[in-house]
Amino acid sequence: MTFTPKKRVLVTGGAGFLGAHLCKRLLERQCEVVCVDNFFTGTKENIVHLLEDPYFELLRHDITFPLYVEVDEIYNLACPASPVHYQYDPVQTVKTSVHGSINMLGLAKRTGAKIFQASTSEVYGDPEVHPQTEDYWGKVNPRGVRSCYDEGKRCAETLFFDYQRQYNVRIKVARLFNTYGPYMHPNDGRVVSNFIIQALKEEPVTIYGDGTQTRSFCYVDDLVEGMIRLMDRTEDTFGGPVNLGNPHEMTIRELAEQVIFLTGSKSVINFKPLPHDDPRQRMPDISLAREKLHWSPTTTLEEGLRNTIEYFKNKKE
Ligand code: NAD
Ligand code: UDP
Ligand code: UDP
Repeated sequence: MTFTPKKRVLVTGGAGFLGAHLCKRLLERQCEVVCVDNFFTGTKENIVHLLEDPYFELLRHDITFPLYVEVDEIYNLACPASPVHYQYDPVQTVKTSVHGSINMLGLAKRTGAKIFQASTSEVYGDPEVHPQTEDYWGKVNPRGVRSCYDEGKRCAETLFFDYQRQYNVRIKVARLFNTYGPYMHPNDGRVVSNFIIQALKEEPVTIYGDGTQTRSFCYVDDLVEGMIRLMDRTEDTFGGPVNLGNPHEMTIRELAEQVIFLTGSKSVINFKPLPHDDPRQRMPDISLAREKLHWSPTTTLEEGLRNTIEYFKNKKE
């Protein structure tokens, strides 16, 4: 009988929103998963259903400290992602992106593992180019309240490309755009979770600014598929960066109306001041992902919102 060892995959930030979905998908794909998380924003509840799987291992660890494990692949997702969370301790946010990336890249260098970085559309800042293509360098404020996240992620990209150039580390950098779905945090102030929770409670739906700013929302299953394709299917010489997101752009006002409609809520809309540095518009150009990964999102906003609404309804009960 021949024994084929499973691929061992490290997922940092594995107990978070995207990480929990990714760990589940990797286990379904017959990988052994080592999930590392310091539980800053992630919870055991997100991964409790995976704990019985003998091929799932959970380590409480902060990636700003070195980590020695033997793995074939690394998905580096650890980093608070919502403004409320990343602004809570901005210095730790920078450390997670910078020191955390150095440690994970050091690990990749030592083990020869391929390494994926969850970068972000925020590297484009408040963009002057629309839609955003990967060759746009961005317009980012280096010293504002969002900088700890934006500049931290930009520096992480620099480190990834330098480890590739200097040490031939096999890197896979994806710039993720706004993503939503089950396991989103109820209290992190993200627009999709806020609107759904407010609508389910029949409370006013809070639009910041006049609601004409735009975003493009990708359903989590589509995004995770794109991440795995980048890691698995592309030749080692293709390290990105590649945009992953849904190119369907909409205004925040349209999103509010859609959520109110799908929940059947009687909520009214309440306008509040626009936060500082809030980008005016955002929409990915995903031509590169289509070409290299043969990937584009397939879940409609209605379908994705219905699944997410169902998740929050069950959570409330
Ligand atoms: P999340 O907050 O749910 O997950 C992040 C996870 O990282 C959490 O479980 C948290 O506890 C953990 N973590 C934070 N700092 C850590 C540290 N120092 N050591 C170990 N673990 C740590 O966020 P998410 O939405 O799942 O985002 C995952 C990644 O994807 C992040 O890097 C984020 O920047 C990126 N991203 C997300 C989106 C999105 O729309 N969700 C968009 C762009 C980029
Ligand atoms: N590192 C780690 N796990 C490993 C290998 C390295 O956490 O398996 C850390 C190590 O502590 C170091 C960082 O990764 O601080 C960068 O490693 P690299 O080899 O690039 O740098 P050096 O050790 O030469 O400073
Ligand atoms: N937003 C809003 N009401 C809310 C939460 C957010 O109008 O209750 C707006 C926010 O100002 C931004 C957009 O929705 O213009 C997306 O916000 P989110 O924090 O989800 O993502 P990001 O700004 O990081 O793209």
